[in-house]
Amino acid sequence: MPNGKRISLMRVMFTDHCIMDCHYCPNSYWVPRRRYGFKVDELARLFDEMHSRHMVEGLFLSSGIFKDPNATQERLLDVVEAIRSRYGFRGYIHLKVMPGTSTDALLEQSQRLGARLSVNMESPSAEHLRKVSTMKDFDNGIVAPMKRISELMQERYGGAVGQATQLVVGAADESDWDIYTRMRSLYGEYGFKRVYYSAFRPVQYTPLEEHPATPPVREHRLYQMDWLSRIYGYDAEELRPAFDTGGFLELRADPKLMIAMNNFEQFPVDVNRGTERELLRVPGVGPLAANRIVKQRAQHTITQRQELQAMGVVMKRAMPFLRFPGHKPTPAKQGELALFREQAATPAQPSRRTVDLHATHAASGCTSCPLNPGTCGMAA
Ligand code: SF4
Repeated sequence: MPNGKRISLMRVMFTDHCIMDCHYCPNSYWVPRRRYGFKVDELARLFDEMHSRHMVEGLFLSSGIFKDPNATQERLLDVVEAIRSRYGFRGYIHLKVMPGTSTDALLEQSQRLGARLSVNMESPSAEHLRKVSTMKDFDNGIVAPMKRISELMQERYGGAVGQATQLVVGAADESDWDIYTRMRSLYGEYGFKRVYYSAFRPVQYTPLEEHPATPPVREHRLYQMDWLSRIYGYDAEELRPAFDTGGFLELRADPKLMIAMNNFEQFPVDVNRGTERELLRVPGVGPLAANRIVKQRAQHTITQRQELQAMGVVMKRAMPFLRFPGHKPTPAKQGELALFREQAATPAQPSRRTVDLHATHAASGCTSCPLNPGTCGMAA
């Protein structure tokens, strides 16, 4: 949610039929399987029923491109319009804007009806995108609608207030630095709220079916780097040591630790004297803990490890980089191996409440797909 609150979303595709050739996507035309689709009224009513029963609090609506981008976007907007006007839903709707949507009226309506909009960028540059799709147009089909949505959000009061996008990691042989530079321009130039990263997994029948899968830990490292840039305020120069000469993030340790290891001369930071910014550069100290330290030490000198722990400092990580009365820090180098080992385990994937609507739809016995009767599996 824009305010940071978590809610349960009904995540659903209007149809998984798609005419596009994205080499990483199970919905692309390469994959020979049955496809499903909703009718506008059916999906709007289903959402209303689930919302009325308190099963979901908001909607995340996406779709394959079943005819062309504008026609698909029009249909998504019909669903959202029905949910808003017929069922009176005023809550959160994250609406996907189809890449290639070119009609200004559709972008305006999307901005008016959605709470958050996203056009998936998928690759960090036109050159990379060409490696994974011959049909998508990076500049005109993706960047242009993003720009227009940004303008609409600035010009208008109400409607969608944030934009997000997703990048597929590892499908186009892009480096993490390529992704990072794109991420910076999205947050900086276009005022994006979030950039999401999705580790590539090969899909059978597509041209990339033999391409190696991206380790999930790479996706995790990109999220950490994104967090350091967006929340901790690290600039490009500060982040550089986290990347190797090929432009990839170290997978064995988190970027913040890598950067600290490369800047030994800046540590240890004195808990009672360091600025909030310096404290934030210490592994194991997050924004909340740094802020609490600054407030607490205005009252009295911090002398106890337990005090820091109570303020949210992860002491195991922070000890080699912090100084306070009675604590002579272990040289960071000595902690290196232990910390690397600690970081090496693949992080757990974030849990998310997801409602699988494909199963619901298939079970409902729909016999006529309104979208593409020739190809929709439900119509067959
Ligand atoms: S346009 Fe979207 S749904 Fe269609 S193939 Fe590409 S990524 Fe998949």
